[in-house]
Amino acid sequence: MGIEEKLPAGVALTSVERVLGLARKASVWPVTMGLACCAIEMMATGTPRYDISRFGMEVFRASPRHADLMIVSGRVSHRMAPIVRRVYDSMPEPKWVISMGACASSGGMFNNYAVVQGCDHIVPVDVYLPGCPPRPEALLNAILTLHDYMRTEPLGVHREEAARAAEKAALEA
Ligand code: SF4
Repeated sequence: MGIEEKLPAGVALTSVERVLGLARKASVWPVTMGLACCAIEMMATGTPRYDISRFGMEVFRASPRHADLMIVSGRVSHRMAPIVRRVYDSMPEPKWVISMGACASSGGMFNNYAVVQGCDHIVPVDVYLPGCPPRPEALLNAILTLHDYMRTEPLGVHREEAARAAEKAALEA
């Protein structure tokens, strides 16, 4: 007989990892990273009309030290790129990134020397959100997608190191 069958009714088993995952997704702190017109829709997502606080996040933090989510909203110029990376590096682990809009994800219409052709050249991206600009509902959907990652992500994983290790393993194979 398994331990589950021995438990009285109303008692559930889970893991610390799973509980922490649920706690993390219910308390996300985004850092302010509005770079262009997409940022207007990101700001609209924080208004009472869209009520982002339903999903455990309300206050955008001005300090990266208090944040675990970066929403890159708008095109990233080469001038801005080192600052985006510095803000990302200043955020404590675990941390996540949403690339909001065509410009953040690929340079969009700005296929020129001044704009980075995708913010994933600078920071690791968890969710790519298409659109020009994506509506607040789409951003909420991206956040819910991210919640699924947060809920199931193993503890203690440094994602950039894990990605580098996977890349190395693929090269060696
Ligand atoms: Fe502006 Fe469209 Fe680019 Fe967003 S995707 S930054 S709305 S041009």
